[in-house]
Formats: sequence, structure tokens, C-alpha cells
Amino acid sequence: MRRLILVCIVSLLILSLCPSCKRDTGGADEKGKLVVVTSLFPLYDFAKHIGKDRAGVSLLIPPGVESHSFEPRPRDMIKIYDADMFIYTGAAMEPWVADIIAGIQGKNLLVIDASTGIAPREESAGHRDEHRGTDPHIWLDLAYAQKMVDTMCAGFIEKDPVNKTFYTDNAAAYKSSLAALDTRFQNALSRCEKKIIIHGGHFAFGYLARRYHLGYVAAYGFSPDSEPTPKRLYELSELTKRNRITHIFYEELLNPRVAETIARETGATLLKLNAAHNITKDEMARGVSFIAIMEQNLKNLIVGLQCR
Ligand SMILES: [Zn+2]
Repeated sequence: MRRLILVCIVSLLILSLCPSCKRDTGGADEKGKLVVVTSLFPLYDFAKHIGKDRAGVSLLIPPGVESHSFEPRPRDMIKIYDADMFIYTGAAMEPWVADIIAGIQGKNLLVIDASTGIAPREESAGHRDEHRGTDPHIWLDLAYAQKMVDTMCAGFIEKDPVNKTFYTDNAAAYKSSLAALDTRFQNALSRCEKKIIIHGGHFAFGYLARRYHLGYVAAYGFSPDSEPTPKRLYELSELTKRNRITHIFYEELLNPRVAETIARETGATLLKLNAAHNITKDEMARGVSFIAIMEQNLKNLIVGLQCR
């Protein structure tokens, strides 16, 4: 990481001597708009709803890339360095941001930690202690998502106070969409035959399960970095059989073979549960929204948990 910063500083020096190179970074830089860089897809979508046509919002992580293992490349550092505002999820999701903050001292860049004011879940990812830590998936609690919109909106206002009413109104409208979605989740998930989500992916839905009073077990820890052990797969299969679970969930952007193994062992059917860390190139082209992803998740949960 230190070497990366050195490379970056050298690159920045070169760029400052070469004004025509300066805007060749793929960032949004339309005249008169706030240039906003976001780390994860939910933040990108929230920022677009707050800033609308007054902001050029871009997503740092390339489409389809697994977000937990992502580390910024030198050109990403330059993109952040050139922006008015950089918004990230929190230290647990993007540990590399600490180095970025250290590297931008004195720049006119506002860095927003979207988890400000949110108490994270500090516990193990459901099994033993090997995955103990801070659960970074705060955006999957739809009350926290609204809090994140508020925190981000304050950043827009700080950067562009003249348009305070515009940003505040946009944030309020978007928050009411999130609140309506939350109510739909509350209503639907309070009437389910099954009360436990068995996930063949990494432990991303702890906040969601807690909010709607559901049990949750996942094959992997808080990030999909280490393979689940055969013992872990056996435990999940046994839990599935014991609770007569009919559907196993798999995650986006990760090979579903772990979920497939549990499904094969238990005769359960597979359904997708999309934690929306990132989207594919195709979804980006189609303009898929965070709310649309969550609506599809709700449909799949209703089927998988047999909700009436
Ligand atoms: Zn995750």
C-alpha cells in the first residue's frame, strides 16, 4: 500500500506538469456539476438520487468486480484526488480508505464516511470465532440506508450550499421510497413459514435478518475470501434438513457452487439473494437500481421462506 501511494504521488506530480492529461481519468467532470466518486454500488445509486443533474456521480469499483477484495489502482487514486467528494461505506468495508485520506491532505476534497452515526454489528459471522469482526453490510438495513442518505446529503450541502433545498428535497423523496420498501419487507417477512435464511454466500445479510427478525446462516464469513470447510457445509446441510428448508440462497458475483452443494445434499432449490455491493456491466447499462435489486430480493425471500 505504501508503494502504491508513492506511485500515486509520482503520477500526480507528472499530471500536474501535464494539464492536458489531467482529465483523462474517466471521472465525471461536467461543467458546473459536483464531481462525486463512490466506492460501492448502493452509495453510487444513493448519490445519484441526491445530486440528480447537479452532480456527476461515478462508481470506483469496476462493474462485476468482487468488492471485498478490491484495492484502488493508481488511476483510481487520481480519480478520487480530482473529485469534489469521495463517499465510502466505512472502515470495515474499505480499509484502504485510511491511506487515501492520509494521501490527500490539503486537497479540496470532502471525504464522507457513510457509516457515520451507525453502530455496526460487532460479532462473529454466525459460527465459531474465525470470522469475528465488524459486519460492513450496513446498507442492507433499510433504516440505516436512510441514515446513510442523510449523511451523504450533508456532504452535498457542505460542497454546494447554494442548492441546499434541492439536495434536501431529493434526499427526502428518496428516503421515503426506502421507507416504503422497508414497510413492504416488514409486512411480507412477518408472515413466513420458515424463519431462517440459509445462504451459500458470504455473511452479508446479518443486518437485514436482524431488522426483520429472521435467523441467518452463511457458508462464508463477512467477506468471501476463505473457502468454507467441509464441516461448515455439513452443518448448513443438516440445518436445512432439520428445519425442512426448501430454498437455499446464493449470492451475486460469486460462483454458486457452494450453494449448489448444499442444495444437492438437501434437495433444496436455489434462489438468488443480491447484496448489491456491485453490479455487472449489463446491469449498469440497463440502469438497475438499488431499490429494484431489493424488490427482487423480497420476491425471492417470499418464495424461499414461504411467506403468505
Ligand atoms: Zn459483503
